[in-house]
Amino acid sequence: MQRKPDWLRKRITAGPERAELEGILSELSLNTVCCEAQCPNCVECFAAKTATFMILGTNCTRNCSFCNVTCGAPEAIDPAEPERVAEAVRRLGLKYVVVTSVTRDDLPDGGAMHFADTVRAIRERSPMTAVEVLIPDFQGEKDALALVTEAWPTVISHNMETVEALYDEVRPQADYRRSLALLGRIKGLNPTIRSKSGFMLGLGETKEEVIELMGDLREAGCELLTIGQYLAPSKGHHPVREYVHPDIFDEYKNIADAKGFSFVASAPFVRSSYHAGEALGL
Ligand code: SF4
Ligand code: SF4
Repeated sequence: MQRKPDWLRKRITAGPERAELEGILSELSLNTVCCEAQCPNCVECFAAKTATFMILGTNCTRNCSFCNVTCGAPEAIDPAEPERVAEAVRRLGLKYVVVTSVTRDDLPDGGAMHFADTVRAIRERSPMTAVEVLIPDFQGEKDALALVTEAWPTVISHNMETVEALYDEVRPQADYRRSLALLGRIKGLNPTIRSKSGFMLGLGETKEEVIELMGDLREAGCELLTIGQYLAPSKGHHPVREYVHPDIFDEYKNIADAKGFSFVASAPFVRSSYHAGEALGL
């Protein structure tokens, strides 16, 4: 693996907000992506009252080569989890919450109803909080997506993660067209919900492929976009093929803006939930 360039060096300091979050998480037996993945943005996000919760367990039924989540036997659904997430959001006074999950191909609805229950529970306790759900593809099940849109989250996000040519290599159980189709259905089910996606650079994609992906997303009606640098969790994961210079991220942002996305965050440290509230003017 190449040496990390200077622009990717960022110290993670544990601020008081992080200690507060960790205390509440352990008391309520919850997981956040922020802490689990030791996200480099946690200081900024917690200060901006944003956090990302992971529901439906920590074992995924898929095995993407870029991802650090464990692939293993899925856990039983905890029916009290939506209320506990809602309680954590209330206690932390979050302005923007992202709810995501591992992929649960073992469940008939892919976990969609659990997502919907979590959105409703958060709305009940924190009506002013913007709620984004970052969902798996539900294996393309239209009814599953409808369960989520009926709960009326502020944003529905589904990450494309990479360009079409790399799907077999890095997302073997996913399907590029199925993911696009899922994004394309959101507005038809509820036009007031904002649709969002994200992908990483540095997995081995070409510029033409990236531009094509952005075009496909716009055709699917996707409004909000995040682009960040892929960082390999270990030597056993898909290697980083390139540390993309910040200027190239700026170039992609300009291209994406010209394609008509209403909000684009494109920089090495951008993650799908980074500065998420800004997309809504929060
Ligand atoms: S970018 Fe997302 S995962 Fe990282 S700290 Fe912010 S909210 Fe958490
Ligand atoms: S489906 Fe999602 S959580 Fe599961 S391995 Fe792939 S990226 Fe990770």
